[in-house]
Amino acid sequence: MSIRFEEQGTPRTQILATLAEFQAGDADWRGGKVPLYVFSGPSDVGEIGKEAFNLFFSENALGARRAFPSLLRMEQEVVGMGLDLFHAPPGAAGNMTSGGTESIVMAVKACRDWSRAQRNDTSFRGNLVLPETAHPAFDKAAALMDLEIRRIPARADYRADVPAMAAAIDAATIMLVGSAPCFPFGVIDPLAELSDLAIARGVWLHSDACVGGWMAPFAAEIGRAIPQFDLGLPGVRSLSADLHKFGFCPKPASVIFYRDAVLQSFQEMKFDVWPSGPFGTQTLVGTRAGGAVAASWAVLRYLGRTGYREIAHQVLTMRDAFIAGLTAIPGMHLRGTPELAIIAFGCDDIDMGQVATLMSERGWVPGMVRRPVSLHLMLSLHHETSRETYIRDLADCIAAIRGQTQVTRTEASYA
Ligand SMILES: *Cc1c(COP(=O)(O)O)cnc(C)c1O
Repeated sequence: MSIRFEEQGTPRTQILATLAEFQAGDADWRGGKVPLYVFSGPSDVGEIGKEAFNLFFSENALGARRAFPSLLRMEQEVVGMGLDLFHAPPGAAGNMTSGGTESIVMAVKACRDWSRAQRNDTSFRGNLVLPETAHPAFDKAAALMDLEIRRIPARADYRADVPAMAAAIDAATIMLVGSAPCFPFGVIDPLAELSDLAIARGVWLHSDACVGGWMAPFAAEIGRAIPQFDLGLPGVRSLSADLHKFGFCPKPASVIFYRDAVLQSFQEMKFDVWPSGPFGTQTLVGTRAGGAVAASWAVLRYLGRTGYREIAHQVLTMRDAFIAGLTAIPGMHLRGTPELAIIAFGCDDIDMGQVATLMSERGWVPGMVRRPVSLHLMLSLHHETSRETYIRDLADCIAAIRGQTQVTRTEASYA
């Protein structure tokens, strides 16, 4: 079907009705059918985020310095709250970005240019040593900047294998990465050990707390075991933490932090090349949604540490109930011991890919890990409504597959 750009406009009511119709055809995330992509806190948190976003709907954070001191101030305060939360030393700095990918691209860019300055070699091409569980955003950054990526197999508990990473470092290594937690298994890498390694070898360590950063400190405060992962570790030179994930802020919003402003200065883009004169941005993008800055500020201030602790309690209590229900299914076990609200799990006697197919026939969008083949859930509050149905459907699908297997075996034994 070819799309035409219609000559005449369409009335507002019809547009809105069509949008609602489109939406009705999407997967039912509110009903808990989608195990990733959408994060939710309590409904009042979503509402304050939307209201703040709409108040600054038209403002452009590209102009924060020249025209919108409100946005400049809010961005500085969001970064400041993060620096406080992540135990940053004096002199640390950061910027808001459009998401984890941009935060990581900026950290890699800063690291590359800092490394080039150290070596006094503007064409130096370095490599990055990462656990295999790290996010592909590092590969995107490497693809953009022509860097080499070295992915190192994880330990049996799915955490970064620090001695194996140490062995992969050579004179051209510029960055080590650890995740807090990694997306595939939800486990936090041994960042304290990576920090020691980074210091010993003089390499930049990035802590990728994109998914867990805004929840892990509060989980620790309510008594959950959370290994150290932040700027309190002396080897961590940069840290990414996405507000639009477990910060429960509207998309697009993340923060990239640096342990000192000198490191941050290497991420800047400054050009004086066109008739309009100097053009510079701290991060990659130009035009930036003012609404995302205002909404993040509003949500952080609205919740405070107490609010985030309460949500961490609710989400992790729900996660525990998911784990209890899942592991009650015969043969089912978790892949690793997750610290936060991401879990991967499977049974070793059956094909979890087949389970995923049966689950999707029942209307679930199955989250998957491929090595080892597992199901995957990234849980926030809207998943509570469907917890019992999910576990029941999963148990049914597994029983169905085991039933088939048994039939086949019985037939075979009669043959
Ligand atoms: C989500 C995620 C990213 C990338 O963030 P986007 O906001 O999707 O660009 C990076 N690292 C980890 C561990 C993530 O979970």
